[in-house]
Amino acid sequence: MNSKTLLYQIIILLFTIISSCTDIQSKLFPSKHNSNNISTVVDLYGQLSINGNKIISQHGDTVVLKGMSLYWSQWMNKFYNYKCVKWLRDDWKCSVLRAAVGVEREGYISNPEREMGKIKTVIDACIDLGIYVIVDWHSHSAHENTDEAIAFFREIATLYGDKPNIIYEIYNEPLEVSWDSVIKPYADTVIKAIREIDTNNIIVVGTPRWSQDVDVASNNPITGKNIAYALHYYASTHKQELRDKASKAIEKGCALFVTEFGTCEYNGDGHIDYEENKYWFDFMDKNKISWCNWSIADVDETSSALKDNANAMGHWKISDLSESGIYIKNKLLEMNGKKK
Ligand code: CA
Repeated sequence: MNSKTLLYQIIILLFTIISSCTDIQSKLFPSKHNSNNISTVVDLYGQLSINGNKIISQHGDTVVLKGMSLYWSQWMNKFYNYKCVKWLRDDWKCSVLRAAVGVEREGYISNPEREMGKIKTVIDACIDLGIYVIVDWHSHSAHENTDEAIAFFREIATLYGDKPNIIYEIYNEPLEVSWDSVIKPYADTVIKAIREIDTNNIIVVGTPRWSQDVDVASNNPITGKNIAYALHYYASTHKQELRDKASKAIEKGCALFVTEFGTCEYNGDGHIDYEENKYWFDFMDKNKISWCNWSIADVDETSSALKDNANAMGHWKISDLSESGIYIKNKLLEMNGKKK
């Protein structure tokens, strides 16, 4: 055997050893669809659907998602980035995030490409990191701009409708307008447009009076599969009376999703009523209602989870969190801590 042949055989041997090690490694640590090689909440639950008044996984188990809402996209661009989403998954244990696309007031309608870019960044991050994402049309008068809503959700459904991560929220908080003659017709139109592209992902519909009159919606529910209704509360203002309305809707078979709530007063500011917050958490826990807290922002108001000038990329210490932020982060760790 000459030295050239020996060298060749050594190379072949080394190659065989390395290949078999790689094979063993891939069996021990199977690669997931996300870039972090860990089992994610979306790996666990997969494609969600609505069964009666509950959200269920693709295996039929009841699912309760808990996480944070981002702030109006046109005013809080800084947290619409991958590293912030990753921090909220890893450090806050969020299983869902809500991307709140501002519609009017210098939002999507005046700057469609700019706002769509922010939303896509968050959606792409959530897909890569294996958490759910609510794509929220953050408007108080969406029925006045139905064409824009259709264009927006058609684009989202076309790009992402085959991904289990996506939850559509088509009308954040209608004001004091009729469910029967204003909101429901709007919802039927937008849902039809989404369903032509995405036949199955959950669609959350806002309800009258800042998404509080879920009982009114439950008297005349939307026809179609995988529809949930938005219930919003601010704990220091909205109390047992609102929980009673929610109970009526649940009894009628409607699935509720608290896509937004605050620990404080209705204006996003004021005091935190810890007793009422506890009643609400108990209520949501008992009824298996998913929730997102308002909000990941560093503005000067009680509901803002972060103090002024918080790092856009996460890495927040306790001293960077507001009183509400500390309370909610602890709730997420307590309730979601076992799963990413
Ligand atoms: Ca789908």
